[in-house]
Amino acid sequence: MLGSHVGLGGKEQFLGSVKEALSYGADTFMVYTGAPQNTRRKDLSEMRIPEAQELMQKSGIREFVVHAPYIVNLGNSVKPESFDFAVEFLREELHRAEVMGSRTVVLHPGSHVGEGEDAGIMQIIKGINLVLEADTKVHIALETMAGKGSEVGSTFAQLSRIYDGVLHNNKLRLCLDTCHLNDAGYDVKNDFEGVLAEMERYFPLNQVACIHLNDSKNEQGAAKDRHENIGFGTIGFDRLCAITKMKEFADTPIILETPYLSEVEGGKDRTFAPYREEIAMLRAGVFNPELWKAVVGNR
Ligand code: FE
Ligand code: FE
Ligand code: ZN
Repeated sequence: MLGSHVGLGGKEQFLGSVKEALSYGADTFMVYTGAPQNTRRKDLSEMRIPEAQELMQKSGIREFVVHAPYIVNLGNSVKPESFDFAVEFLREELHRAEVMGSRTVVLHPGSHVGEGEDAGIMQIIKGINLVLEADTKVHIALETMAGKGSEVGSTFAQLSRIYDGVLHNNKLRLCLDTCHLNDAGYDVKNDFEGVLAEMERYFPLNQVACIHLNDSKNEQGAAKDRHENIGFGTIGFDRLCAITKMKEFADTPIILETPYLSEVEGGKDRTFAPYREEIAMLRAGVFNPELWKAVVGNR
């Protein structure tokens, strides 16, 4: 399954998200339940969920994932109000995802805000334990992080420590972000098999519930987290394309989070979503920079 993250807003709400995914030729997608940078959310009754679900059914989209807003930080052990807010928001987010029809909420584990890795991990475990219950229907997929700032979750060892502390860890999953793995020091470009082997020291392959397919602007190990368009970064088209063809991930939502482009040569306004072209190139298995020139000046 191959898709991208899509917007949610305006009049069309979730119905618009599904339409956007279809316009890219995608058969899956990822959505924030509102703006990714804030936590204002509309009532579920206003989100046009039944119409969106009908359209998904008609058009063969069997699965999509929800991404929790990136400002939610379960790792904060300094400000109780931030932590409490994160817990409450995540609890509601799992409910929203369930009603929308998703079985996976992708979560950035959190940042330890200067208190150290151990304190951060303890706090994240505490938070997840307050959210997951025996009958929770939706999985939380912990995303592999680049390790910028005080981010927790940039190694499989750290992520497995979180699993170890969570009571209902049968409801945890992983989201592999190729840019983040590269920036965290894993050799995605030359030895992705080795990266998976390293993962399998801690997790079976079936724990991967989502892949974020991004190229990276930075060298392996840079700890930066700046996504690049497929084929224009340090990982390169061939590896990223090969991941989309792996039979192990045939039923895994593979989601592009690559940067928007400007429609004019050298323009700063990034208004053009690259996903239709990127999906077409990945499906065809051929990197075609000419395709970019046809649609956007600065490629
Ligand atoms: Fe993410
Ligand atoms: Fe990601
Ligand atoms: Zn990122």
